[in-house]
Amino acid sequence: MTSLDALQPNLPSPLHHIEDERFGRRGVRLMVKRDDLIHPELVGNKWRKLAPNLRAAAGRQVVTFGGAYSNHLRATAAAGRLLGLPTIGVVRGEELADRPLNPSLARCAADGMRLRFVARSTYRHKTDPETLAAILRTADAEDAYVVPEGGSNSLAVRGCQELGEELRGRADVVALACGTGGTLAGLSAGLAPGQRALGVPVLRGGFLTAEVHALQQRAFGGPRGDWSLDDRFHFGGYARTTPELDAFAEEFEQRHGLPVERLYVAKMLYGLVTLAEEGAFPRGATLAAVITGAPFAAVTT
Ligand SMILES: *Cc1c(COP(=O)(O)O)cnc(C)c1O
Repeated sequence: MTSLDALQPNLPSPLHHIEDERFGRRGVRLMVKRDDLIHPELVGNKWRKLAPNLRAAAGRQVVTFGGAYSNHLRATAAAGRLLGLPTIGVVRGEELADRPLNPSLARCAADGMRLRFVARSTYRHKTDPETLAAILRTADAEDAYVVPEGGSNSLAVRGCQELGEELRGRADVVALACGTGGTLAGLSAGLAPGQRALGVPVLRGGFLTAEVHALQQRAFGGPRGDWSLDDRFHFGGYARTTPELDAFAEEFEQRHGLPVERLYVAKMLYGLVTLAEEGAFPRGATLAAVITGAPFAAVTT
């Protein structure tokens, strides 16, 4: 067991009401679940998903996977620095090796993560045992502890169950943004009967329902909780945005003094406002919006 003292969390994360007339005039109460305040560097659901994995890694180097702007890669790199654990990030896109690192990858590297760039065709097959073995061999990491892309394995899903448990009796509907769906799979398992989780996928493709089922099957042996997805708010896909979404996020930040993470949280909040305006929530309902992360501030040197 690795001591996680350096990752001391602020749990349960705060839950507070915010006044917003787009909900108020419909008789709906909006709460925010501030998972972004769990830890200053290992933020939000990344703490919940990574902590059990870092414990299981027991001091071995950790290998994980992500795209060029992955919040998960950054969180893993930060955890590695805090715990003195070597980390390797396998990044999608061989061509990136020849370019200056973007701010997100630069942060990973500054935190001591070794970056390995692999071709998209290889990356796509990274869970095939042979491809994985070859990636680990070239990275000199055959003994490493492997965390899947986005960090969503069974340990992570069970770690997110606690998020649901913290919200028991506190809201009728709990909304959150989804990438791999691991957080939704765990959260909905932790909620009480009568509560439901609403996932807002930020990726295109409509594959997430099957994915969440599979994650719950592996973590719990079967389906858990009441959850659904609304696929209308991905704005073109991962890391895509529109001027309308940017303006919405900026306005929300100013109105509520709440930092709005743009890849995920902004799309979830936009979705919630839209649903409220469509009358999707009954009068008297309480919503909890999970603030799963914080904006990434690139270090400029
Ligand atoms: C990673 C991340 C998510 C997505 O979590 P999944 O478990 O992959 O669905 C949501 N919000 C933020 C801010 C994230 O960084």
